[in-house]
Amino acid sequence: MGKILADNGYSVDEKDEGADYDFIVLNTCTVKKATEQSILYRISKLKDMGNRLLVGGCMASANKDLIMGASPNASIISTSNVNMVAEAIAKIESGTRVQEDKYQRTDKSGLIPVSNSVISRIPISEGCLSSCSFCETKFARGPLNSFSQDVLLNAISMNVKAGAKEIELTSQDTGAYGLDKGTNIAELVSRASEIEGRFKIRVGMLNPQHLHKYFDSLLEAYGNERVYKFIHIPVQSGSDSVLKDMGRIYTVDEFRAYCKELERKVPGINIATDIIVGFPTETEEDFNATMDLLKEVKPNIANISKFTKRPHAKASFLRQLDNGVVKRRSIEVSRLSRQLQMEKRKMLIGTKREVLVNEKGAKSFMGRDSYYYEISFLDYVPFGEFINAEILGVSPGSLLARVV
Ligand code: SF4
Repeated sequence: MGKILADNGYSVDEKDEGADYDFIVLNTCTVKKATEQSILYRISKLKDMGNRLLVGGCMASANKDLIMGASPNASIISTSNVNMVAEAIAKIESGTRVQEDKYQRTDKSGLIPVSNSVISRIPISEGCLSSCSFCETKFARGPLNSFSQDVLLNAISMNVKAGAKEIELTSQDTGAYGLDKGTNIAELVSRASEIEGRFKIRVGMLNPQHLHKYFDSLLEAYGNERVYKFIHIPVQSGSDSVLKDMGRIYTVDEFRAYCKELERKVPGINIATDIIVGFPTETEEDFNATMDLLKEVKPNIANISKFTKRPHAKASFLRQLDNGVVKRRSIEVSRLSRQLQMEKRKMLIGTKREVLVNEKGAKSFMGRDSYYYEISFLDYVPFGEFINAEILGVSPGSLLARVV
């Protein structure tokens, strides 16, 4: 939206509210209840902007009523209408309140900005092929709409030429990419890694259910040194019956087999997963199965979420578990996940690795090695460069290193 507005002559600023702006465009997310609450708080704080507050993102697509409750005169632009953001602002300028909330299928690959930042995020598709019973995003993003592969490759190439060193392929489910267009994520990654230049590709989150359609080709694509040896496959639960109730079309054994094969064919691969605890039908046995699965697979990262009711999601209409039970399970699994992460990372102390320095913090520099492990440096390191480093220690969330 920023790119479109700038292309149409608007001066775009990304600062927080507080300054005296003519319009504020607020992007929103609807994945988790806690995020939704904090966004609603911000919307209510901005209600004096009236129709000059233009709310976009998934909340504008799936939960318009919540926005109206927080800021009754706000304008709305749903995710599938972002290509019309300049027209929307022009209408607001002429005093009209905008309600662009109809779903339309658009290829947004032409909207990908070319920037000179080290990390370029490239959205490759919108929507998905699934109907997970806990999910609200589906109501915002709709069915799978993969963007043109040639246009995406061109966008990647332009960003690399402009100085990008890390290309992040993102989507609601990168694993579904291309399945509506006779291609797939493996083909995209493989073609992207042939683009000239020194850069790394990070493959975004992919659900296990489509992996069987191109698994061997994906393993092959991971053989290219330009691809981070990192994969994010959300299993969500270690129990087949919970997976079934979640509407996830794979089994725990299939997930297990993928992890084993990935570790065999891509030695050292960094596996991340997501877990939802407290799904309404999750029994104590189911929860223990999730704990056992984590102990067995030992992912480097397990993002833990407590199940929360989302307005249209099917699972919200089931009888919910007691809050205390959900909280206890979340604490237990989070503790296990931190412990597994520390054990895995400690094994890397003393190793040397190449790191792309891709982030500047207040007092440190951060980067990623070829396995996408986060590496922190307390001393100065050249931002945007590949450097050689030695791992000295671990801290929660990252590895501590020095330049060698
Ligand atoms: S894959 Fe499932 S969780 Fe992800 S957006 Fe689609 S329905 Fe939602």
